[in-house]
Amino acid sequence: MRDLPEPIRPGTPRDSGGKGAIDIDGVSIVFGHGDAAHTAVETTSLRVEPGEFVCILGPSGCGKSTLLNAVAGYVTPHTGEVRVDDTPVRKPGPDRGMVFQQYSLLPWKTVRDNVAFGPLMAGASPTEAGAVANTFLNMVGLKKFGSRYPTELSGGMQQRVGIARALANYPSVLLMDEPFGALDAQTRLVMQENLLEIWRKFGITVMFVTHDVDEAVFLADRVLIMSAAPGRIIEDIRPALPRPRSTDMVALPPYIAARQQCHEVIRAESRRAFAEQNL
Ligand code: ADP
Ligand code: MG
Repeated sequence: MRDLPEPIRPGTPRDSGGKGAIDIDGVSIVFGHGDAAHTAVETTSLRVEPGEFVCILGPSGCGKSTLLNAVAGYVTPHTGEVRVDDTPVRKPGPDRGMVFQQYSLLPWKTVRDNVAFGPLMAGASPTEAGAVANTFLNMVGLKKFGSRYPTELSGGMQQRVGIARALANYPSVLLMDEPFGALDAQTRLVMQENLLEIWRKFGITVMFVTHDVDEAVFLADRVLIMSAAPGRIIEDIRPALPRPRSTDMVALPPYIAARQQCHEVIRAESRRAFAEQNL
């Protein structure tokens, strides 16, 4: 069950219990037309259960962002359909929060106003939206920074604002595209732990794109490995690590086993792609 922080958004808060199922059903994605047509994602099917934390892992250019963008509603599949809680995805919506690698905050607004923006657009009063923003800033450890401007914060802090902003709409699915890719290794570890804490509190479904095997194994219930371009999911690995996770678990045998399994799949896939290029 979800444990939404107080105060909850005014009106009827989204009943998120049991929500956040994602169905990717025979989806292929093609860019361009005619001779210029280019398949970014090959026919792919996948079911993500409510509250699961899945990582999409694959080499650069294999179609990870494209697949995520189809769930977000930014990209329309060529074939098949994406459904979130049985509703076909046709465009972006407040049930799906998105966090990008680039912090994409509004530089002319304070941190609090950046987070309050979604609730305001959804019809909350400025006072209510401000209260929601404070709640989520607190959750990501930035309670004291609401009056600052984004450029006054470090990269890690800006990304935490991005996460607070995505959560402020009470989405049932959080979509994250290499969100910690631009951060240094130390900050990244802290961010990963913080994200897992938020995920646990919130009970939200997370679909997290990364090209980093360690990040995927540390975070995920399921690591979904994509093939080289055009991408499709070729492996579904479930690291047998307990929750809550902590960084010292990287020495545990199940961590090492899952990591090795990922590397083996990736190695075999790279060899296959390389051989194909040389035909
Ligand atoms: P990844 O996120 O795994 O690095 P992407 O999903 O960004 O890969 O890209 C997959 C393929 O689709 C690449 O060949 C990329 O050039 C192409 N692509 C992505 N977005 C577009 C777009 N809007 N228009 C045309 N081609 C695109
Ligand atoms: Mg990408």
